[in-house]
Amino acid sequence: MNAEKSPAFPPLSATVPLHLNDALTLGGGDVILMAGPCAVESPEQTFTVARALRSLGLRVIRGGAFKPRTSPHAFQGLGLEGLKILRAAADECGLLVISEALGVAQLPLVAEYSDIIQIGSRNMQHFPLLWAAGEQPKPVLLKRGFMSTIPEWLAAAEHIASRGNTRILLCERGIRGFDPSTRNVLDVNAIALAKSTSPYPVIADPSHATGRRDLVPAAARAALAAGADGLLVEVHPNPDHALSDGPQSLALADLPAFVDEMRRLAHALGRRLV
Ligand code: PEP
Ligand code: MN
Repeated sequence: MNAEKSPAFPPLSATVPLHLNDALTLGGGDVILMAGPCAVESPEQTFTVARALRSLGLRVIRGGAFKPRTSPHAFQGLGLEGLKILRAAADECGLLVISEALGVAQLPLVAEYSDIIQIGSRNMQHFPLLWAAGEQPKPVLLKRGFMSTIPEWLAAAEHIASRGNTRILLCERGIRGFDPSTRNVLDVNAIALAKSTSPYPVIADPSHATGRRDLVPAAARAALAAGADGLLVEVHPNPDHALSDGPQSLALADLPAFVDEMRRLAHALGRRLV
């Protein structure tokens, strides 16, 4: 026991609110639920998801056009075509877009078509990419490396900020554990610690953290209870036929119940989910 050194309870939030647009602020009172397919696969798939998000009152669609796949033989994403599909679907439905930039060369393209640039777990310490993201004005969602410590994650965010862009969202997406029952381990501690020690809003990704759609709601509840400012969730019209991350993607048909549950939890926490 080291009671003397225990921090005061409850921990203070150090988050500085980040305005995405006139209606959407991260790190204020609202919880932002960003959802969409792991990868943009077709116009039909993406427009179907976008319309469902709109009908549920959600404001941000995710979707990868450039995918960091473990195997070079797996679907790598539609590239520019994917970005165009995502932008068109989002514009039809009045949504913001978040999409991943895999490398420095494609960052301007992703920035042109997206409202938030995602830097993936495998790229958390890709310093030239962090610097390039820091030299442009769009907000950057920085996923935690799945083998990275919290100080390494926060230092990576400082690499972005050091080049001038402080519009940063931290994303806890699970770290590698020893038990193959789940894909990763959601580090709830990291959410609370990042909230109390970093100025940046913290998002949780319960899809990659668990790798199993049946566990996504529980992980999302834990993340919100720990203070997350938002969620990044994978959803697909037909997960069994998804070209990537189907097992962890919620079926679109199950999204209304999920959103309803998160809304009720946010409300109980004194927050509003959008
Ligand atoms: C993703 O969001 O689809 C993704 C590849 O995430 P991560 O970088 O966390 O693995
Ligand atoms: Mn994915």
